[in-house]
Amino acid sequence: MLVSAKEMLTKAKEGHYAVGQFNINNLEWAKAILLTAEEMKSPVILGVSEGAGKYMCGYKTIVGMVEGMIEGLGITVPVALHLDHGSYEHAYKCIEAGFSSVMFDGSHYPIDENIAKTKELVAVCNEKGLSLEAEVGSIGGEEDGVIGGGEVADPKECAMIAGLGVTMLAAGIGNIHGKYPENWKGLNFDVLAKISEECGDMPLVLHGGTGIPADMIKKAISLGVSKINVNTECQLSFAAATRGYIEAGKDLQGKGFDPRKLLAPGVEAIKATVREKIELFGSAGKA
Ligand SMILES: [Zn+2]
Repeated sequence: MLVSAKEMLTKAKEGHYAVGQFNINNLEWAKAILLTAEEMKSPVILGVSEGAGKYMCGYKTIVGMVEGMIEGLGITVPVALHLDHGSYEHAYKCIEAGFSSVMFDGSHYPIDENIAKTKELVAVCNEKGLSLEAEVGSIGGEEDGVIGGGEVADPKECAMIAGLGVTMLAAGIGNIHGKYPENWKGLNFDVLAKISEECGDMPLVLHGGTGIPADMIKKAISLGVSKINVNTECQLSFAAATRGYIEAGKDLQGKGFDPRKLLAPGVEAIKATVREKIELFGSAGKA
């Protein structure tokens, strides 16, 4: 059964660790992440962008697939199925389809409109027992067509949104989606500390987890980050492993062309990436 992310993130905030959100793209992704979370006894959040939702034939297909996997694979750790960077319309679509958590990214609206729409969704999610993530200050880089300038969030605005009763809050602190550029200045810990102070026990979310050095991740967790999003890193490790298999000519040997064989190294690579992140975030054994 899918669960809201509220309980796992409240525990993470209290216990000074973070739960990983790993974005999924297909059956292999979901399977690799669920099996690794189970193996490590870690709670987990499966993230779905609007683009990935469309690719996987709609949100209902995804709910059916993930619920089926939880049963079929005997997954016992808490699993939240979460819309990543949802628009107002898609937040409602996911709520209807059976997601257990949604992000409403209203960071591109004027703050008043972000507040009004977030407030409305807080009421809907509370009624249905779902968790809701809001965002203040856009995240840099590009993710499925969502382009953010990487602005740093205003701690006062964060407090306003946190006060509406959202479950978790994403705040831009110099983090970027995708690969980080050579001249990246790093996370802005001064702002993170202020946001944390303003937002009390609200679990904070760090987007763009790929390529942030381990020491910065640990410092961010110590300053109140309880959820970290990982997307690009699984894509890179899957692609590299698949490339290795094909470049070694393994698809040309025997039944090496069988998709279950051809995709297996990529699945193992995703598992290794997820395992590494769960260890770094400190959520192993916390399920
Ligand atoms: Zn993001």
